[in-house]
Amino acid sequence: MDPYAEIREILLAKQKELSIRLEKLKENLRSGRSADSQEQAQELENAEVIDALGNETRLELTKIAKALDQIEKNTYGICVDCGQEIPLARLKVHPFADRCIRCATAAEAARRR
Ligand SMILES: [Zn+2]
Repeated sequence: MDPYAEIREILLAKQKELSIRLEKLKENLRSGRSADSQEQAQELENAEVIDALGNETRLELTKIAKALDQIEKNTYGICVDCGQEIPLARLKVHPFADRCIRCATAAEAARRR
């Protein structure tokens, strides 16, 4: 049995949810342009917020696609530093983790130095 089946399910569900959210954001962005200049300013501000949300959503979708691709190629869940398998429990909480806890802690410490 595929140990990452559950994570793939989680990722696919998330991917679907984010795709729908992105579509809704796009619709919001397209809809309604008011004649009133004050409303226009407000709409512009909203558009910027929506744009930022869209970028965030797109970034997350990219991460999901990458993780799904790695699962497909059997390269998922391998620590980029030590090459050991990242424990499943950690991946369930952090599906995009690319380091085991030991290496992640070491990398974090190195960044702070
Ligand atoms: Zn490691």
